[in-house]
Amino acid sequence: MTWMDMTESEIRETMLSYGAPAFRAKQVSDWLKKGVRPEAMTNLPKSLREHMAEIPFGGARIFQKYVSPKDGTVKYLFALEDENLVEGVLMRYSYGNTVCLSTQIGCNMGCKFCASTLNGCVRNLRPGEMLSFLAEIERDEPPKPDQSRTITNIVLMGSGEPLDNYDNVVTFLKRVTSMEGPNISARNISISTCGIVPKIYRFIEDAPHVTLSISLHAPNNEIRSGVMPINKAYPIEEVLAAAKAYAERTGRRVVFEYALIGGTNDSHADAIALARRLRGMLCHVNLIPLNPVKERGLMGVSREHAYQFCEWLTQEHISATVRREMGTDIDGACGQLRRRVLHELNG
Ligand code: SAH
Repeated sequence: MTWMDMTESEIRETMLSYGAPAFRAKQVSDWLKKGVRPEAMTNLPKSLREHMAEIPFGGARIFQKYVSPKDGTVKYLFALEDENLVEGVLMRYSYGNTVCLSTQIGCNMGCKFCASTLNGCVRNLRPGEMLSFLAEIERDEPPKPDQSRTITNIVLMGSGEPLDNYDNVVTFLKRVTSMEGPNISARNISISTCGIVPKIYRFIEDAPHVTLSISLHAPNNEIRSGVMPINKAYPIEEVLAAAKAYAERTGRRVVFEYALIGGTNDSHADAIALARRLRGMLCHVNLIPLNPVKERGLMGVSREHAYQFCEWLTQEHISATVRREMGTDIDGACGQLRRRVLHELNG
């Protein structure tokens, strides 16, 4: 157990066990909500802070920060207590600010185009660590005078596969949407999965108000298995059946992410095959021109070609858009920044 992972009642119990008066628990939880570590809780007696040091803090600190001069996107590299590094991104939109969080350090899914997975998964992130990313960003980029908070939306689309860290992710979602925590509406939160089908069904029951995105990236099993090893365990038919179950259970559309990889999944025939697959489903396709990762040897496509692919889908009456590019000047894509910095640190 760590301080950042404790619920309010666990904090109360722990403070009671220290023999501290009840109001101390409230002070401690107010600090923890702001991501402050025990030694910096200035309104507590020093002896109490020393006592608290017996339990690890369990939060993160900002290790490096990059601001895109182009669009104001902020990329953070957080350092965890075990010195692991992990990324998070703050993106500014007209309707509010979205934070993209990681759920694991690295990833085990092995997608052929992704930098996060190149060295496998180091470990899962805990709910308290994910909460502390939010608190650190809020503190680093305080709200403007007309805003009550900086972060209005969250996407779990950083490094890692959220459904491969299921319990921690669901606990995090419960805490982040609760009145005790940051109290962000579930409707303003999205998670993205590569398609671990049984976990999708569980997730629909555990967190039906969270928006579900599925990384599809292909119109058929042949192409999908070539770029996403998970497809060999859960083929595209099963992924689409789970997506349909989500749409039917929630009445909300599923977002399919489709990274356009030059010469692999970007032809007119691919667009038509995709449209056939998705016909009649409550869904939206989010097209992303592949952000080429040096180690991966796969090609991207031009923005023009992405718009062309989008047009092919639209002509087939499939709702589709090309994702706005943000932070490409600061290693925006998953896992790229962490890799670059690790290389620099290790020479
Ligand atoms: N593991 C989850 C979430 C993490 S990645 C998932 O697979 O959905 C968020 C999105 O970025 C996914 O759709 C992922 O496939 C995509 N992605 C990863 N590397 C990329 C790259 N180099 N270019 C474009 N999209 C990429």
